[in-house]
Amino acid sequence: MIGQTSSCNNTRTANMNTFRRSTTCFLFFLLFTLPLYPQAPDSAQPNVVKAKKIITTGLGSGRAYEFLSELTKIGPRLSGSQQAALAVEWARRKMEELGFENVHLEPVMVPHWVRGPVEEASVVNSRTSGDIPIEVCALGGSIATPDEGITAPVIEVKSFEELRARKGEAIGKIIFFNRPMDRSKISPFEAYGGAVNQRSEGPIEAAQVGGVAALIRSMTTRMDDVPHTGSTHYADSIPKIPAATISTVGAELLSALIARENRVTVRLKLTCRTLPDAESANVIGELTGSEKPQEVVVVGAHLDSWDKGQGAHDDGAGCVQVLEALRLFKDLGLRPKRTVRAVLFMNEENGLRGGKAYAEKERRGEKPILAIESDAGGFSPRGFGVEADSNTFEEIAQWADLLKPIDADRIWKGGGGADISALGKKGVPLAGLSVDPQRYFDYHHSDNDTIDKVNERELELGAAAIAVLSYVVAEEGLDVDGLSKHIGTK
Ligand SMILES: [Zn+2]
Repeated sequence: MIGQTSSCNNTRTANMNTFRRSTTCFLFFLLFTLPLYPQAPDSAQPNVVKAKKIITTGLGSGRAYEFLSELTKIGPRLSGSQQAALAVEWARRKMEELGFENVHLEPVMVPHWVRGPVEEASVVNSRTSGDIPIEVCALGGSIATPDEGITAPVIEVKSFEELRARKGEAIGKIIFFNRPMDRSKISPFEAYGGAVNQRSEGPIEAAQVGGVAALIRSMTTRMDDVPHTGSTHYADSIPKIPAATISTVGAELLSALIARENRVTVRLKLTCRTLPDAESANVIGELTGSEKPQEVVVVGAHLDSWDKGQGAHDDGAGCVQVLEALRLFKDLGLRPKRTVRAVLFMNEENGLRGGKAYAEKERRGEKPILAIESDAGGFSPRGFGVEADSNTFEEIAQWADLLKPIDADRIWKGGGGADISALGKKGVPLAGLSVDPQRYFDYHHSDNDTIDKVNERELELGAAAIAVLSYVVAEEGLDVDGLSKHIGTK
């Protein structure tokens, strides 16, 4: 017993020492890892206090993720679809429910392409393996194959230059574009930029050399059997041929078969089609400025998505961050001097009609001072890419410290977003939320883009970043001289 007690005491002492040591370590850790707000008293820095409240309230509420679960329950929201219409209605109701002001829809006609019920491809008459089904999906805007499908030999190329050099071999073939995204690029967006012309221009290039269909490796560095869709284009003067993407696993398989055998034939069947344009809408609501309501900070994201997965990261996340930003202002009783306007754009994915319509609409007496977009997924925010002249850039960059506590204080030149690009062309300064980009293309435009891939905390941090930047710019404004340079005389 004594021995046991003594042993127990020893253990207790050891435990206490460990406890003291770990407590000291913990305090030390806290001291050096807790976000350090500027040291001046809070009362002297109202924006610091408000930014802190916005961030902690957003993290504490869980509302952004709740909105995302509601939106993603509707499903994918391709322009012109029933789900896109439901999403418009959901967003309008949500803005009203949250007490936004001037909630309304601005109608816009959008392209209406539908994926057919049949998307099939098989490697056929492979000498060694027989028929092998491969995962494909039609590219947005593609025409269908004939009812019986297209069966033709395949040639694999890595670039348009290679295809042109081999044009004698291309007539009557299915052209397989298999240049992967370059994994050595630090930015996946740069890797995407280096490969995506195969998807957007591949069918034109293939048809120009007599190809009968285009098969394109999915735009992702992840190896799986999930094809990723996206927009493709045709040229009026060049025959339209069916175009589909193939999963990365399928692309590797097909490439290996081609390397092993002289002649590999694929059968492809697609039943997609383009219907007449459909009516849809941008969804708009705002918090009217208390002193200069005619000066407007636009905070936007796109409500449409591709018809795969749930459009959770692209761009459901952006939409709910926009809603959450304005909800936070309401919740905290913050009404900035200038108007903050939430705009959920329609048709970013295959036409940009919503972004263009918003920019073209005459808004008499109004000065857009900044447009912010979130369209890079609901990942941990890093900061904002800002497209503006250097004076305006400096003015925006001065607020970076407010975002330091959440490590989102990097402000760099160049950024924005597709939906707000039409505003940028009119001279409005742009800011795009920048996030940790490494997982984005694992999910982008595919069945992988579902809400379970979105981390609640990361989503909320992005919402907080947007809320803080839009609040402080709407409260403090941007230099009028700089602004007049931007918006010209209009
Ligand atoms: Zn997007």
